Amino acid sequence: MRGIFDRTSALDNAMRQFDRAAEILELTPNQIAMIKEPRRVTQARLPVQMDNGQIKVFTGYRVQHNVARGPAKGGVRFHPKVTLDEVNALALWMTYKCAVVDIPMGGGKGGVVVDPKELSAGELERLARRYFAELIDVFGDGRDIPAPDVNTGPQVMAWFMDTFSMHTKMFRPEVVTGKPLELGGSLGRETATADGVVICIKEACEHLNLDLKTATVAVQGFGNVGGYSALNLYNEGCRVIGLSDDTGAFVAEDGFDLPRVREYTQSRKGKLAGVENAFEGVRRLEDPQELLELPVDILVPAALENQIDGENAPRIRARLIAEGANGPLTTEADDILDEKGVLVIPDILCNAGGVTVSYLEWVQNRMGYAWTAERVQEDLDRIMKAAFASVLKTHLERNIPLRVAAFVVAIERVTRASELRGLYA
Ligand code: NAD
Repeated sequence: MRGIFDRTSALDNAMRQFDRAAEILELTPNQIAMIKEPRRVTQARLPVQMDNGQIKVFTGYRVQHNVARGPAKGGVRFHPKVTLDEVNALALWMTYKCAVVDIPMGGGKGGVVVDPKELSAGELERLARRYFAELIDVFGDGRDIPAPDVNTGPQVMAWFMDTFSMHTKMFRPEVVTGKPLELGGSLGRETATADGVVICIKEACEHLNLDLKTATVAVQGFGNVGGYSALNLYNEGCRVIGLSDDTGAFVAEDGFDLPRVREYTQSRKGKLAGVENAFEGVRRLEDPQELLELPVDILVPAALENQIDGENAPRIRARLIAEGANGPLTTEADDILDEKGVLVIPDILCNAGGVTVSYLEWVQNRMGYAWTAERVQEDLDRIMKAAFASVLKTHLERNIPLRVAAFVVAIERVTRASELRGLYA
């Protein structure tokens, strides 16, 4: 089955992406030894008292992939199918995502093997606190700063922050990002990933001479990244003709009225189901995967991993693909799309707006100050545009796909930082 459950291939994919760029950079075995493998892998057994009095022991992970350029940064996911391989892959991507946008952070990722839907609110809180307490020597400002990921949101971050603060007897909001605004969260975080996706799309359109005002768009996924990306693109004047989520895929040849569609989904637990009956000119696709093959200018996969592979890549008709999700294309798909002349804005660049505003949250917490939404947006804009420009320059100079160019830019930065620091003892 395709999707977030295809865990092993995420690591294979990440390793292959690294190897391609390492070959172009002609990295030495010593350089590869310094930066390819994770630096610290921690596994913890987490005993938690359930509501019925029984003790249940969960497994939790934290991987610090590389910390040469700054403290490890990356989310913690709670999911029944979490594996160490998956956490390793996601941590590697975080190292290079932070490096490509040039924020002073390394890569990390965490996970707990659990289905949170089966826990009561009290059980979830005890599990979250136990995870953080068990790994308290791993986390910390300047060391490793977690954030939300699948099934963990601002409330879990608040518990992490409280656990650390109680343990150290100090108010320590800077140990975690993605917190509620009341506890030092940043304005602009909610839309940051989609805002970054659209900044990249605008830059790419300029490069391709593609007019956003006449461009057609399809977006897979209608959650945080997909929903806001679709709305932002609509606001830029695009005609968004394809939308999908886990309830189905829908087409509106004349374009969806995004503000009204969002109103509709907000009253239905965020889901698109039934949208074909609520709006004129909207039809449901029999096979939801066909959404990816619509004749659009811009395709935004913003749902799951491994959505476009060697099988369906030949049928993709978009000119530009903006990876809102992590790892939506396999390396086989990359090769086919490159051959077809499709420009792919890679995940480590395209969806880096989220980690960028997480970094800005950490900066604000360290200063004990909160910026306006405009200030955050201004920094996000500047950082994303600079990152896009350096990747595009490398793509043009070396005649390599944007993904390889993004890894080249990022790996060069991580290697340089590692070499400057040298080996301690
Ligand atoms: P989300 O849970 O808010 O939304 C996911 C969406 O995908 C939902 O609309 C869901 O219905 C849909 N979906 C699930 N299965 C689907 C299927 N088979 N076909 C079509 N749609 C399907 O998650 P999100 O935060 O928007 O994250 C989406 C992707 O973006 C993930 O890969 C995530 O790792 C990545 N990402 C998110 C952020 C962030 O800040 N939220 C940052 C970087 C990367």
